[in-house]
Amino acid sequence: MGNSKKYDYLIIGAGLFGAVFAYEATKKGKKCLVIDKREHIGGNVYTENTDGINVHKYGAHIFHTNNKELWDYVNQFVEFNRYTNSPIANYKGEIYNLPFNMNTFNKLWGVITPQEAKEKIEQQRNAAGIADPENLEEQAISLVGTDIYEKLIKGYTEKQWGRAATDLPSFIIKRLPVRFTYDNNYFNDKYQGIPIGGYTAIIEKMLENVEVRLNIDFFQHRAELEQLGEKLVFTGMIDEFFNYQYGVLEYRSLVFEHEYLDKANFQGNAVVNYTDRETPYTRIIEHKHFEFGNQEKTIITKEYPTEWKKGDEPYYPVNNNKNNELYKKYKELADKEKNIIFGGRLATYKYYDMHQVIAAALKKVEEEFK
Ligand code: FAD
Ligand code: UDP
Repeated sequence: MGNSKKYDYLIIGAGLFGAVFAYEATKKGKKCLVIDKREHIGGNVYTENTDGINVHKYGAHIFHTNNKELWDYVNQFVEFNRYTNSPIANYKGEIYNLPFNMNTFNKLWGVITPQEAKEKIEQQRNAAGIADPENLEEQAISLVGTDIYEKLIKGYTEKQWGRAATDLPSFIIKRLPVRFTYDNNYFNDKYQGIPIGGYTAIIEKMLENVEVRLNIDFFQHRAELEQLGEKLVFTGMIDEFFNYQYGVLEYRSLVFEHEYLDKANFQGNAVVNYTDRETPYTRIIEHKHFEFGNQEKTIITKEYPTEWKKGDEPYYPVNNNKNNELYKKYKELADKEKNIIFGGRLATYKYYDMHQVIAAALKKVEEEFK
């Protein structure tokens, strides 16, 4: 690599992908500059301590992975607690356990044994006549039957994605386990927890020896910024990077409404999903329960999904066929850029969890420094 530029890597985005890349490259003696348009590091995993409660400013974040190496990797930065995610669904005042498991089936149908639950689901699947599920609705009914679909999936999904469940890909619902045991753990992964001290502490550690500049939008200073780094690592929106030349990729955005309440315990659980169609938010997070807090007050966040438009934060890629085809065209352009690494949820247009983003960043690091 030549020495004409001030930095070896200009990294756009101080989220997980950018931070992991910066940490690893710095360790290898490379000079990195990380920029972010937000006023803080961490991207969507950013947490902020308010009166001892770590508030997940961009929605509930629970770390989970099956990969021991990734678990050890994050644990080198901070210690994790023993939190196990077990959200509650509130359907018009009826309470159900998630993910779909024997507690859910028992509450809904009064069934006691796994055999009875399986028979009930089988009957409903047969009545719906779905052989080969082709969209989220068919996939959901085929997995758990029409009752659960109607009460716990349809309304939530259509709010979350702003699209009919018949127009959404089936992989989205396959994220959730269906279990014939009385186990409310939302994830099947071996390792799970919340970083003690919040996620921001991890990113701070990763960026400890890295130069970071905040409140800078790459696209507003593109020409001068591109001069700074021998190579670029880009973790923003791939369609914006290429000036939307083939068209605009669709995203879902969110509005977070944070409330500070003068009571110790608002809902008795970290995550409560509102699965009816009418309640305008999808879920309420009560942050203290992620870390077994016993403060006298509490902080909650309501999450309202909205359709993304230019200028909004793009939280979720909408991975239907139309958008995936469009992404492929941008990916072809990206592949031609030998000095630019594209990574993370936005630049690869993938519905990635944290562990997947870290794995992707470590893979890029390996390729880069082999
Ligand atoms: P980001 O965190 O989005 O970081 C990208 C950064 O780039 C941002 O800081 C952004 O400001 C910056 N940027 C973008 N464009 C520009 C620009 N033009 N100029 C300068 N800076 C720019 N994962 C889990 O594992 N468990 C969970 O429970 C979980 N819950 C989630 C809940 C919600 C509501 C959301 C939205 C995501 C959740 N995730 C969860 C996923 C997790 O947030 C992501 O996998 C991870 O944060 C992605 O990291 P990233 O670096 O790819 O992207
Ligand atoms: N989902 C649902 N009801 C729920 C929770 C989830 O129908 O109570 C569906 C919904 O379509 C959602 C998907 O399952 O988009 C994935 O849920 P997950 O909790 O993984 O979403 P995330 O945490 O990424 O927002």
